Amino acid sequence: MRIRCLEFSERAKGALRDEMLQQNLQRIGVRFKTARDLAFAALEDPESLREMGRALKEKAIANLPLLLETLEMRVKEAGGVVHWACTSKEARNIVCEIARTKGVRTVVKGKSMVTEEISLNEALQAQGIEVWETDLGEFIIQLAGEPPSHIIGPAVHKSKEQIADLFAQKLGVPKAEAPEELTRIAREKLREKFLNADMGVTGANAAVAETGSILLLENEGNIRMSVTMPRILVTVMGIEKVIATLDDLAVILALLPRSATGQKLSAYSTIFTGPRAPGELDGPEEFHLVLLDNGRTRILADPDRRQSLFCLRCGSCLNVCPVYRKVGGHAYGWVYSGPIGAILTPQLIPPRLARELPFASTLCGACAEVCPVKIDLPKLLLIMRQRLSEDPNFDGGVPLLPRLASRAHGWILTRPRLYRLAARGARLWSKALTEEGRWKWLPPPVGRWGKMRDVPAMQVPFSERWKKLKKELLGGVANEPTS
Ligand code: SF4
Repeated sequence: MRIRCLEFSERAKGALRDEMLQQNLQRIGVRFKTARDLAFAALEDPESLREMGRALKEKAIANLPLLLETLEMRVKEAGGVVHWACTSKEARNIVCEIARTKGVRTVVKGKSMVTEEISLNEALQAQGIEVWETDLGEFIIQLAGEPPSHIIGPAVHKSKEQIADLFAQKLGVPKAEAPEELTRIAREKLREKFLNADMGVTGANAAVAETGSILLLENEGNIRMSVTMPRILVTVMGIEKVIATLDDLAVILALLPRSATGQKLSAYSTIFTGPRAPGELDGPEEFHLVLLDNGRTRILADPDRRQSLFCLRCGSCLNVCPVYRKVGGHAYGWVYSGPIGAILTPQLIPPRLARELPFASTLCGACAEVCPVKIDLPKLLLIMRQRLSEDPNFDGGVPLLPRLASRAHGWILTRPRLYRLAARGARLWSKALTEEGRWKWLPPPVGRWGKMRDVPAMQVPFSERWKKLKKELLGGVANEPTS
């Protein structure tokens, strides 16, 4: 996916002005969150399940090199081919080379964020290969020429009326607004593509090292068709998706659908190992697994940021984030959006292109409360802010004025006399401009900021209060009768 360099604040302003988008965002946030809350409330001990999820991801990430080598061995034993890609470009080249040498003309794809991350569609299309997204949401945004706006629902930002217009315009069909009719149109179009496809491409929800199996969760059946119908199957996955055992997979199966869509289990849970074995009725003749690094080992090497790799891509943190719910996914400028996008994007692409993202958060903590693997997202956001601010080549995404104000503040704080003088001046000013302990008016440049907040009046500084208290106490001690 091409990286859109426009700043987050600019894109967010555009999103806030888009009335239709605002309506659509309001609808989806509530729907996803309610479904997730109900699914977890129905469990006897949801916290224990989350703890188990956290523990298995911690263990997997701590043993990543060993698990990946085991996975490679098992996939090869099952007849598959394993490729290692350090960068997006390498991953794209590997898939394109497989397609070129095997004479592939049509590719059907299951929904996969990692193939968005490496811009696979554009690379295959540049080779003259037809690529079809077969997940309904992905099919819609492919027709619209847009990137996904949500990890789970790529087209959630669109209303059914907008989709009806899009289908009529791009597929030349009569305008039909009933969701069933729109689904039927997409299904008819895609069925013919499945039948003629030479290659299927998927991501992976998890890969089990002990068996070499891949897990794919979905609700439409399109991924299962992409896996079983074409003669070649390519699965692209980030290296952090490997887990140790099938027992661990059972925990992921209990957590992920509940977190993502509020389901006990996805409608289709596909677990496959290698290509079609002799005697099996379906499955690909060839299976290729592409293991993508693309900055993940850099994250792994940093103990403070390592937990970013625990993410299951359930999308829950997006649904509760007050910022995401106002601006939608496109404002984040790349594949991953919401709190996890604000953390991952500056680590996976050059940070200067995503410098504002870690600052696009209120740090309210709602994301951490719903994360199925208990990632401390607010802490990671703060760490990312600190890292970006420390980079000498980078202004940390903080606008000029707050940056200058913070520097001036730091300068005054290190000069006690000046600090006392400034505090006294500010208190006098505060007396004149406060009412009932709150500022009535704040001067520019903090005027607009202050309009939406109750800013308390300046208090007598601690040093003065302490001096007074000490005097009183000592006076008290001095007045005590002596025996
Ligand atoms: S960070 Fe947690 S809540 Fe957010 S997408 Fe990843 S797993 Fe889901």
